[in-house]
Amino acid sequence: MTLGNDYKCPFCGGRVTGKHSVTYTDDTTEPVVIIQGVPAQVCQQCGERFYDSDVAERLSRQVDEIRAGRMTRVVALVAAMDS
Ligand SMILES: [Zn+2]
Repeated sequence: MTLGNDYKCPFCGGRVTGKHSVTYTDDTTEPVVIIQGVPAQVCQQCGERFYDSDVAERLSRQVDEIRAGRMTRVVALVAAMDS
């Protein structure tokens, strides 16, 4: 699924705009993984973020790789994702 620009937020009906560069934080398990420079669409009303499917896929792969490195806390700069 590829998200277009300026559509309605399914949660609050607010306007969702893209593309923003956001900081993704996965703190569901240790270690916490923080990835900066992630392209996302953001709801202007509730702040909910939406990721394109290819971005979400790369994010989860990145998180897996970082966790496989067994670091306690990582800040990964992935400016390349901003293409
Ligand atoms: Zn919203």
